[in-house]
Formats: sequence, structure tokens, C-alpha cells
Amino acid sequence: MKEIWMKYSYLFTISFFILGIFNIIFAWIGFLCLIMPFAFVIKDNRRTWCQSFCPRSNFLTRLSARIGAHRKAPKWLINGTGKRVMLIYFSINMLMICLSTLMVYLDNRDPSEKIRFLMAFQLPWNMPNLLNIGFMPDWAVHLGFRVYSMMFTTTIIGLFISNMFKSKTWCAICPMGTLSSLALRKKNTLQLVR
Ligand code: SF4
Repeated sequence: MKEIWMKYSYLFTISFFILGIFNIIFAWIGFLCLIMPFAFVIKDNRRTWCQSFCPRSNFLTRLSARIGAHRKAPKWLINGTGKRVMLIYFSINMLMICLSTLMVYLDNRDPSEKIRFLMAFQLPWNMPNLLNIGFMPDWAVHLGFRVYSMMFTTTIIGLFISNMFKSKTWCAICPMGTLSSLALRKKNTLQLVR
């Protein structure tokens, strides 16, 4: 099973974006990519998700193996600055997602039903919503659009970076990779202290 997943998990990434076109509620699946790196750190005491299971890494690696430039990434990108920029972007984005969803839930603002790139740039098309799965509260739809936008943005950046440079370059700055490394370090420190 593990081998099959490692081989075909790139299809999960592609399916995520296709399912969102059918109904934006499927974008909630994106939370798996936010939770699983930490679940594996807790379970295995190592970054098993990043090492074996991450579908985004699989997708980017496969694609860049075919069309990538395979250049060495500049030092500033992989030695800290890139990591910090992506982490700040991710933190602000998550904060905005939580606050705006809360506002929609409390009926203090309308849901945003557009895909945005880098939070600020609204894409000039509407999602077709091809599959009606019944009534969904506004906050759930809003959250779906926001998660889809975040995954869309990071995948576009990942595609750009992985194809400009070596295939694993995205992983050097991926916020989930950075955060799961921090979680692992914290866990090991706590174990040493005990
Ligand atoms: S660093 Fe990010 S993209 Fe790379 S394997 Fe880990 S979670 Fe996936």
C-alpha cells in the first residue's frame, strides 16, 4: 500500500484541484496536508510525511523531472530567507483564513467566493460548481475557497521554483516542512528534558 501511495500520490494533488472545480467543499481535503506532517512527527518521531508520503512533493518532483531546468538554487533562497518569507506568508494567510471564516460565521461579512493568488490577486473566473452536494453554510463555502486559494498559490510557487531549480527546492522553503522540522526538534528537546 505504501509503495502504491508513494508512486501515485501525485494524483491526490491533481484530484484536489479537479474536485474543487466540482464543488469547493472538497477543498477541505487540503487540511490533510496541513495535519499529516505533524501526525507523523508525533507517531514516528521523524518526518515520515515529507520523506515518503507528501503528494505535493511527489507531484512537483515528477513534473520537474520531465520539464525542470535542474539548476542549483541560489543560497539566499534555501538558506533561510526563502523559508522565512514563506513562513510569514503562510502564518498571515492562516490568520486571515481563520478570522475571515469567523466573521462569515458570525454574519459580519459576506463569504468570498473567488480564488485568490497570494491573498491579494483575485482570479478573473468563477468556479463552475459542477456538483451540487446540497446546502452548505456560507462559512464552510468561504473556508473552502480560502483553503483552495492557499493550496493553489503554494502549488504555483512550488511549480515555478521546482522547475526553475532542482526538483526538491520547494521542500527547502515549504512552510509545512519548516514547521514539522520545528515540531520534531521541539518534541526531541522535550523528550531529552524528561
Ligand atoms: S517539505 Fe512540504 S512539500 Fe516537501 S515533502 Fe514536506 S510537506 Fe511536502
